[in-house]
Amino acid sequence: MIVDAQGRRFRNLRVSLTAACNYACGYCVPNGKRLIAAEDELTGDQMFRAVELLIAAAGVEKIRITGGEPLISPKFDTFLTGVMGLALNDVSLTTNGQFLEAKADVIVASGIRRINVSLDTLNPLSFRHIARSGDLDTVLRGIEAVQAAGLRVKINMVPMRGENLDQLLPMLQFCLERDIELRYIELMNMGHLKHGAQYQQQFVGRDEILECIGQTYEFSRTHAAYDSTSVRYEIPGHGVFGIIANESEPFCSACTRLRLSSNGYLYGCLSSTHRHFIGDILDLPDHLALARLQGVLVNALADKQSLQFRGEVTVMKFIGG
Ligand code: SAM
Repeated sequence: MIVDAQGRRFRNLRVSLTAACNYACGYCVPNGKRLIAAEDELTGDQMFRAVELLIAAAGVEKIRITGGEPLISPKFDTFLTGVMGLALNDVSLTTNGQFLEAKADVIVASGIRRINVSLDTLNPLSFRHIARSGDLDTVLRGIEAVQAAGLRVKINMVPMRGENLDQLLPMLQFCLERDIELRYIELMNMGHLKHGAQYQQQFVGRDEILECIGQTYEFSRTHAAYDSTSVRYEIPGHGVFGIIANESEPFCSACTRLRLSSNGYLYGCLSSTHRHFIGDILDLPDHLALARLQGVLVNALADKQSLQFRGEVTVMKFIGG
């Protein structure tokens, strides 16, 4: 097992199945143009092989399938079914939910137990403004469909000043009523946000979120897994919500995440431009591939920040949120 001086190792793998997305969210892409798949994306078989090797070489225990938008990838059905057949502690999926209803049968049949849906507002107009595509009701029907089939749902919301601050409480109430854990994600200084004023103008921190919630609910801090990205709060008698407080309460020192991009690069840290190509080792026999991977993983682990997310021009769509 490869472990660094802070005791960190790679336990969680996030696989960006494709860089393509059917949304064009303002914090993820700069120009409103929808993202298309990179020409050099790995095939589904190659991605699956990469996952198997990473489980063996790094001791990966949990996998999150993400993107881009994973549900629009032709690789999705087979990849999900394959990953569900591996000996993993946990498999999860992050989606914008637009195709959740359409894909509900495949998802439920795969045996996956939980899904994260990214949803920044319950207002149809601001939904279109933020996502620059999609339809709110379709997402809500998708959430209902998978919940009805017994899957656990979490919703991720990025609060942004001037965009959806009025939604902090409506989103929480919506989630509490449906037994959904809402996680507010502090806006991350990534990609095009590294330049210009958008990040500073829109960023909303943990304390402001808590102050707003505190006007309506009493809450107290509650348990979160040691390498969890979110700090969690319990509202007695109502439920739990979380904040992924990249800025206000960085979790770098307990980060166990490794990311695989759709074109075959490993990223040890969201806040680093370093990346490590593994597409060329996937055809090697196991013993050679695993030996090569060991070296790559040592370098990827060394990319992790020691304390705090600094932000990078790296774009989330390539490496998966
Ligand atoms: N398309 C899928 C979805 O929407 O969940 C998966 C990919 S998306 C990049 C994953 C998550 O990253 C979403 O919850 C999105 O809100 C979040 N995200 C993207 N850019 C971000 C940024 N600059 N700061 C905070 N969250 C961001």
